[in-house]
Amino acid sequence: MTRVTADVTFLRDYNQALVMAVGRTARTFERSTVVEATGLTPQAVSKVIARLTADGLIRPAGVRRPGIGKPAVVYELVPDSRYAIGAHVARRTLRLVLVDLAGTVHQSAVSPLPRDFTPEQLLDALSAGIDTLAGIGDQRGRLTGLGIGMIGPLDHANGLVRDAHGLRHWHDVPLRELAEKHLGLPVHLDKDVTAGITAEAWRHGATFGDAALIMVESGIGGGFWLGGAAHRGAHTNAGEFGHTVVDLTGPLCVCGRHGCLEIVHHHAAEAGDIAHAARVLAVGVVNLLQTLDLAHVVLAGADLLGHPQTYLTAVTEAVQADARRAAWLSTRVALSSLGADVIAAGAAMQVLDRHYGIPELAHSLIVGS
Ligand SMILES: [Zn+2]
Repeated sequence: MTRVTADVTFLRDYNQALVMAVGRTARTFERSTVVEATGLTPQAVSKVIARLTADGLIRPAGVRRPGIGKPAVVYELVPDSRYAIGAHVARRTLRLVLVDLAGTVHQSAVSPLPRDFTPEQLLDALSAGIDTLAGIGDQRGRLTGLGIGMIGPLDHANGLVRDAHGLRHWHDVPLRELAEKHLGLPVHLDKDVTAGITAEAWRHGATFGDAALIMVESGIGGGFWLGGAAHRGAHTNAGEFGHTVVDLTGPLCVCGRHGCLEIVHHHAAEAGDIAHAARVLAVGVVNLLQTLDLAHVVLAGADLLGHPQTYLTAVTEAVQADARRAAWLSTRVALSSLGADVIAAGAAMQVLDRHYGIPELAHSLIVGS
């Protein structure tokens, strides 16, 4: 984005995003609520409210009559005014969800993907899957786009899958562009774990501090929410949490190093010792806490959710016992509030965020100020 040409649009979108953020967190709001929450002028807020009402994103929900002063119109978000589809592309499955503007998941469907699937096979599966979401025909006009949470490494900014772990046909595949052409929808591509942590951040709202989503599913990855935004790293390759070493003399990992968290965990899980596998994961989580000082750790992924209590207990205990933390250093450990839908739902929310949320540049300005 070039600032010179984008300033007017940027400011308009930015103000709109601030009002939408209020609408998403408060059940109802009025002009004065927004003025107070955002610091915008009453005139600016009136303009944005008029535009959002005309677009059908918010609607009047009554009038409040204070004891003194003029009656005030009360507004609310219109959740079904816009939808987005989220896709979670795993090694053997494709999960699709339909999410509304308020972040509610309306439908969720899983279909198998062929072993070692090609980009063409994924595009066909996406196309077929989207068509089977019920009522999608009626919602077409309200569909903002498709978000894809995919196995990395990938280049989020350019919509390029670099070398998806364990998938032979995925080397420098411009998936975003291919999917936009194939499906006729705007597409947003991100790493699965980054999409996942976005979903958790949406659901928790402003109270969500620095956090990590740990996903155990085929491999182990971490999605990070730092300073109020998703953290992707210098090359959008952050999150290779499974390839941090926990045993210098451990088994050889696919990445070429010995004793990575992922391979040590895998050996324990393969041997059927889930309790030990969970403790291995917990060691990695404590390493993360010591490095990043996180407020929340969210546990997710099909393999982990197969034994939710074992993992939750192991990680919670390790966080309390192993990280020698003072009472003022508290970290909440929880299972994903969206269960198996978290990655797909987060991918959909990223699409809604891109169109109706705080633009990323603005976000970093707020956080950085
Ligand atoms: Zn490794």
